[in-house]
Amino acid sequence: MTARIAFPPSNFYFRPVLYFDHNATSPMHPAAKETWSEAVDRYIGNPSSPHRVGDRADKALNEAREKLADLLGCHPQDIVWTSGATEANNLVIHHAAVSKAEFATFWTSGIEHPSVMEPMRHHFPKRNLFMPPDEDGALSIDKLKASLARRRPAILGLMASNNETGVVQPWQDALKACRENNVEFFCDATQWLGKRPADGLGKCDFVSGSAHKFGGPRGVGFLKCPEGKIEPLLRGGSQEEGRRAGTENVPGVLAMMSALELRESQLAKGEHPSRVKWRDDFIDSILEKLAGAELVGADADRMWNTVSVLMPQTDCQQRWVVKLDKAGFAVTTGSACASGKEEPSHVLTAMGHAPKDAGRVLRFSSGWETTEADWLDMLAGVLKVNEEMEAIAEPAA
Ligand code: PMP
Repeated sequence: MTARIAFPPSNFYFRPVLYFDHNATSPMHPAAKETWSEAVDRYIGNPSSPHRVGDRADKALNEAREKLADLLGCHPQDIVWTSGATEANNLVIHHAAVSKAEFATFWTSGIEHPSVMEPMRHHFPKRNLFMPPDEDGALSIDKLKASLARRRPAILGLMASNNETGVVQPWQDALKACRENNVEFFCDATQWLGKRPADGLGKCDFVSGSAHKFGGPRGVGFLKCPEGKIEPLLRGGSQEEGRRAGTENVPGVLAMMSALELRESQLAKGEHPSRVKWRDDFIDSILEKLAGAELVGADADRMWNTVSVLMPQTDCQQRWVVKLDKAGFAVTTGSACASGKEEPSHVLTAMGHAPKDAGRVLRFSSGWETTEADWLDMLAGVLKVNEEMEAIAEPAA
């Protein structure tokens, strides 16, 4: 399989696009699609209904709960199904705001996803702390320990890996430091799940995930929380033991688990090291051939699928995305200057990059189905666009 996607369907005028934006969303895997479509026909009942048709759907949902708990290493009753990671993250922060003391504080890194940072600003105004990472984009565990020795938050959140840079965060060490200091620990594992093993995440008090980042459908995810009570964000029916009202998305949950199990088996079979090499070859060529290009998080442990590069300067970085898009490559940038309003990535600025440099970032994110040939085509696309840009930049003779 290749990452080249005929989009929209082939009779349309678009040429196929080479898709390198899997951190935004990944296409649904055929196995997950099949599970979804079978489940739609097989589990027609509402899991809360009292008859056998409802019971059948409820059983399927609980089997999925057991599978996820098994992968994470927690109790099945710790799992609450949600509409994705945004809802799961909001649920944790809402829960903390309602259940902790009035003066309790919430700490995270300054490179979290907006679905963590915005609810924190909303629910913990003046009681939040966003800790900057080191220059390679990872939170310093020594600095965290030093801070915990002075003061303690009620909860500390740290993502497992960053969506913009792919830099892996020291969540296992942060969890340990939290345990030693009697602080609850929350991990947004959205960009980790399906790319690195889920095992061990269940030890965190709270973990969030979203199916569409690893080949499941959009609009479904989960929160792992301490068994028992969590202050619900959505109130209504008593679904999910009163922790999340609303009829559960049974086909979505089953398709998510089908995708996650498939990814876990790819990891167990050791299918990722070759992908690290394809990524590294791409990086080496970019750095060698593009004067002024810089790899973000160069010395850090990074996810095998993500490359974040500060590209040579242009008047507007959006140009790279537009030109690559026209040439048949879907990549993204951390800043948006289409409207003339440049907003540099908060992740890059938290890492200490000046806004001007942070605006130079391009993100290439591959998926499991991306091949070595796709990486080579992507490289050829970047070099071709670079030539075009250099030609434009040449002063008129
Ligand atoms: N957290 C992280 C780290 C993410 O990358 C994303 C998606 N970009 C989310 C949370 C939100 O996920 P969703 O949009 O599926 O709710």
